[in-house]
Amino acid sequence: MEKILAILFVENDGSLANPALETAGAARQLSQALGGAPWMVGLVGPSTEAAAAQLAGCGATRFLQITSPELAQARHATDVMAAEAIARTAEPTLILAPATSRANRILPALAHRLKGCVDTHITALTAEGGQITATRWFYRQRMEANFRRNRRPWCLALETGCFPTVQAQGAPVQLESVPVPASGWNTRTQVTGFAAPAADAQTIRPDAELLFVAGAGWTKKQADGQPHVPEAEKLILDFLRLTRASLGSSKSLVDLSGEGQAVLSFLTHLNQIGQTGSTPRHPKGLATCCHGEEPHTVGWRFITERRAINLDPNCGWARGKADVLYVADAFAVMRKVNEMLAATAKA
Ligand SMILES: Cc1cc2nc3c(=O)[nH]c(=O)nc-3n(C[C@H](O)[C@H](O)[C@H](O)COP(=O)(O)OP(=O)(O)OC[C@H]3O[C@@H](n4cnc5c(N)ncnc54)[C@H](O)[C@@H]3O)c2cc1C
Repeated sequence: MEKILAILFVENDGSLANPALETAGAARQLSQALGGAPWMVGLVGPSTEAAAAQLAGCGATRFLQITSPELAQARHATDVMAAEAIARTAEPTLILAPATSRANRILPALAHRLKGCVDTHITALTAEGGQITATRWFYRQRMEANFRRNRRPWCLALETGCFPTVQAQGAPVQLESVPVPASGWNTRTQVTGFAAPAADAQTIRPDAELLFVAGAGWTKKQADGQPHVPEAEKLILDFLRLTRASLGSSKSLVDLSGEGQAVLSFLTHLNQIGQTGSTPRHPKGLATCCHGEEPHTVGWRFITERRAINLDPNCGWARGKADVLYVADAFAVMRKVNEMLAATAKA
């Protein structure tokens, strides 16, 4: 018989956020599909009173908790210790957790410590004849897989928005405290704060009117036989600053960093558009120094109006991929465009 444990990290005010309530909902649903398999909740956090009230009437067979001020910080060492202590008490065959950054970070380590296995990005769980099937997407949502595993415990990180939340009904549940591991908390790592890039350092802007795509041509030798990467960087960043456009890239350009070639420092694989990249939605798109090959342009299918600047009149954009192709030097065009935008901004 399967035994399900939902490991839920509690917010610092003692409550459970929606992803945790969805995980509890998934555990309940799976228990029902398994003909009433026992399911338990394991709460981890500095305090749990509000969470106990939110879980009222959810129907779990056991409610375990481990609380400590040390768990107010999302720290791998203490989070995984707490989750392991709960799992060793509950002895589940299935461990469900919400796919939050906090739980995602510890789940593989938890599976390793319990000699189990782990899967992430789970979007559905079903059971038939006692056999559990998990569903997840692969290859950037182009393939969906349904799969089973024999190894236990099986840890599963559940994507948010895919499962129903549990709703509180009645009095708060009674919680059973799990003792802190005898070794004590490992607090060698201290979380001193969060560092995030400044808002204007963010180049991917899904809400932007315009997608600006940079291709590998920006780093290639130009008419004078030399590459002009610093100038390319400046032209692109000035354009983004002046227009607040979102920055996309071809695969060739973002792959260059791996080949030790001159690169545009602000690009990462997250900027890549195309078959193995993203498929953003913007009203307009402008491709520069990009050849417009099918694996790239397939990522443009939701861009309504498409323009491209390329020196080559036979590039892929010329073959029905763009509404307008400017056969021109993108350095010269963008220099001029930036001048005009700057003048308009001043006026
Ligand atoms: C399985 C598979 C998956 C792939 N997935 C993706 C994907 O998701 N996304 C993706 O982008 N690619 C993908 N590719 C790669 C894709 O086929 C192309 O190789 C890639 O898009 C080419 O990038 P590029 O156009 O920037 O570079 P290049 O092909 O090197 O083109 C550079 C262009 O810049 C132009 N140029 C140079 N200087 C200037 C200038 N001064 N002014 C104007 N134009 C200039 C040149 O004329 C040339 O057309 C995939 C390939 C495969 C096989």
